[in-house]
Amino acid sequence: MSWYRDEVEEVVRKSGSDPEVGLSHKEAKKRLNQFGPNKLEEGKKTPAFLVFIGQFKDFMVLVLLAATLISGLIGEVIDAITIMFIVLLNGVLGYVQERKAEKSLDALKELSAPQMMVKRDGEWVKIPSAEVVPGDLVRLESGDRIGADIRLIVTNELRVDEASLTGESVPVHKKSQRLEAEELEIGDQENMLFMGTMITQGNGQGVVIGTGMNTEMGKIAHLLQTTETLVTPLQMKLEQLGKMLIAVALLLTALVVVIGLLQGHELNTMFLSGVSLAVAAIPEGLPAIVTVALALGVQRMIKRKGIVRKLPAVETLGCASVVCSDKTGTLTQNKMTVTKLWSGGRYWDVSGTGYEPNGQFEGNGQVVKPDQNRDLAQLLSFGLLCSHAVITERKDDKRFGRSKSRFVLDGDPTEGALVVAALKAGYSKEGLSKQYQVVQEFPFDSTRKMMSVVVKDRSGQRILITKGAPDVIASRTSLMLRQNRSERMSAKGKAELDEAVASMAGQALRTIAIAFRVLAHSESIQSAEEAEKDLTLIGIQAMIDPPRPEVKDSIAECREAGIRTIMITGDHKITAEAIATQLDILPSGGKVVDGQMLSKLSDEELAEGIDQMYVFARVSPKHKLRIVQALQANGHIVAMTGDGVNDAPAIKASNIGIAMGMTGTDVAKEASSLILSDDNFATIKEAIKEGRNIYENIRKFIRYMLASNVGEILVMLFAMILGLPLPLAAIQILWVNLVTDGLPAMALGMDQAEGDVMKRKPRSPNEGVFARGLTWKIISRGFMIGAVTLAAFWLVYQEHDGDLVRAQTIAFLTLVMAQLIHVFDCRSEYSVYHRNPFENLYLVAAVIISTLLMLAVLYIPALQPVFHTVPVSFREWLLVLSLAAIPTVVLGGFQLVKRKK
Ligand code: ATP
Repeated sequence: MSWYRDEVEEVVRKSGSDPEVGLSHKEAKKRLNQFGPNKLEEGKKTPAFLVFIGQFKDFMVLVLLAATLISGLIGEVIDAITIMFIVLLNGVLGYVQERKAEKSLDALKELSAPQMMVKRDGEWVKIPSAEVVPGDLVRLESGDRIGADIRLIVTNELRVDEASLTGESVPVHKKSQRLEAEELEIGDQENMLFMGTMITQGNGQGVVIGTGMNTEMGKIAHLLQTTETLVTPLQMKLEQLGKMLIAVALLLTALVVVIGLLQGHELNTMFLSGVSLAVAAIPEGLPAIVTVALALGVQRMIKRKGIVRKLPAVETLGCASVVCSDKTGTLTQNKMTVTKLWSGGRYWDVSGTGYEPNGQFEGNGQVVKPDQNRDLAQLLSFGLLCSHAVITERKDDKRFGRSKSRFVLDGDPTEGALVVAALKAGYSKEGLSKQYQVVQEFPFDSTRKMMSVVVKDRSGQRILITKGAPDVIASRTSLMLRQNRSERMSAKGKAELDEAVASMAGQALRTIAIAFRVLAHSESIQSAEEAEKDLTLIGIQAMIDPPRPEVKDSIAECREAGIRTIMITGDHKITAEAIATQLDILPSGGKVVDGQMLSKLSDEELAEGIDQMYVFARVSPKHKLRIVQALQANGHIVAMTGDGVNDAPAIKASNIGIAMGMTGTDVAKEASSLILSDDNFATIKEAIKEGRNIYENIRKFIRYMLASNVGEILVMLFAMILGLPLPLAAIQILWVNLVTDGLPAMALGMDQAEGDVMKRKPRSPNEGVFARGLTWKIISRGFMIGAVTLAAFWLVYQEHDGDLVRAQTIAFLTLVMAQLIHVFDCRSEYSVYHRNPFENLYLVAAVIISTLLMLAVLYIPALQPVFHTVPVSFREWLLVLSLAAIPTVVLGGFQLVKRKK
């Protein structure tokens, strides 16, 4: 159907919608059933059984299975079956880990799924794009990614980037009038919006005419089905490391086998032991556990309101050294209330809090009735006419009880404040609509820092009303109101205005100037640039936007963690400085720079001075990009927040792009790697903390797994060199690998942050995983684990006159217990004594389960022949535990003493 050829009324009628109430919830549900969810079909996923089979395609596992088969054929049937079983269990574990990682990544995608504003039963509601149905009335604004095919019915300066569909990169100007032509290409359908394109400017409303695969995008969807899985730099490094470790493990294993053969051991036994050792020593679980640790950390972040869109950001977060944060809404609450007004040299105070429209006006300590003062009345009513925000009273909201009411804002908080101030004076949109009708609009944008509407009064006279940043408005003003009369804007008047703005901004108030111009009958206005000139200033409305209570502490915490906070705002320099001072962002000697000053600095000068700059005020989004680049030129790892379309380049260029979940546009979200679902600065701090912790946790289990593997290899190698019998049977080696590498390693990945993670300097992005003494820790602990295991073996072997099974059992138990004790050591950068071992209950549970599994193979008679074990006596337990504790308790003790010194 050619929707673009229909008149607007026709479109609404045909789609079965209603321009006032939209669809009913019931009808929408019916249509959702009929048309299905508004989603493009996705590419096929790897089926579960293939993921499972994938666990066994590892080369060494295949060699082990082959070796097992051979040993089974030559008579070692029980051994063979058990090895198969252990390999299977290992596979199941790997499968579970991989699935868990995949599921949590899917959940992430769901969380950042786009939403759309639709009208249902007369109310505008935000719903997931997937639930949008044909016939839905939708509202769209600058920065939105369009989620369906839409026929426009209202547009205001609407421009749309359709490059994703047509390849045309210049935004297309859209309108709502019907088009005549019969056959139009997508790019020429000027009254249509298409799924996947995005709004770069303006706003509009329309009716959904196609969803899901029935959209233009759906028709080409099969071309777009590329699934992209991002690997983090750490994962890449670990992959390389993994290859090296395999080589080392194989080399050492070969050494064990060769020396064993030279010492006269049987080929058959040596072969199976060698292969088992290789399987145990190769940290095949590492990549999966890294993914799980990343994914689990990401889930913890979600609980703290940070949604990671790109996994590599988790690592980069831990390196962040500067956070550039928007002021409004991130550092402040974005709950604005007008408290002061100024016009023609007079001030008024307004009482009341929040969006509740109750309050009084006072001037010079006297209560004032706004309708008896024309300047004040015009300041308030024109502020209202030039605002979109709507305040509604929710009486029936159960959360607030029947008696209490709550006033909620739909729209921009700055405009909300203007609307509430007008309501306090008795002006409402409905009331004013009898007098004025809005006929044209030039939407707000943060580069222009203004917004205008054209209204027509009852006599047909058109008036342009402009509101915006006072300094910008002042530059386009030629007259100002004073006591109900307009006068030339003289130097004195300008100075008066500047002083008023400075005085209100100094109290951390955000200022908005309101101005107007009566339009000549013949004047037709095409652009904002043409319109916004020769204005008459009515006055200023000033509003508070209190800082978020938790932000000051978060900034202090960041400072302790070596992270600097920079405030970036479109707001007035003095307002910005006042809030920065309240929040302790600005140290003594720190500079406040405004957009004008910034424009005068060259890139080099900016980079040179930026380490002293803490607040950037009256900046445009394009300045943000320069700030990021200057910081990066000084070697900083920069986190940058943003919400608008124009913020996207800076978000992309920063190391960690952060978008606002509530107020952010889709474009900003898509450019970001982290979304704050509560728009709160404190969430950035939490995410950085979590990012640091995740990295530390990965280091923890790498350290644990590798030290364990070093221990396993060394005990065999030492025994062969010393000409001793094999201290462990092949099955025991595999079992050690299963019980120690599986659950405890995963539990380390879920460990709590060590107390001082936010007291350390940011990690350098070039730092290797093994930095800060990790290699030494792995080798020394691994060496000790191997040594005590061999000691246990040798002592019992001597005492029991060469009872190999008993000696092997003790060595087996010592090795496992040494690792299960050592796992607690790995939780700290310092020593086991620095942390409460019962803090991580997952780890405690994992260690208990592993110990119980160990007890089972020691004491269940049926399992004893399978695992070549005998029951261990109380005296032997004492020996085992005292030896097993040495690597952790003794070496930890040394570390403690060294730190104390
Ligand atoms: P931040 O970058 O911290 O979010 P901001 O929200 O204050 O800063 P902008 O939204 O770009 O930055 O606003 C810049 C200035 O434009 C404000 O100080 C105000 O004077 C003016 N302004 C803000 N919103 C509107 C609006 N809806 N209509 C007209 N002027 C506005």
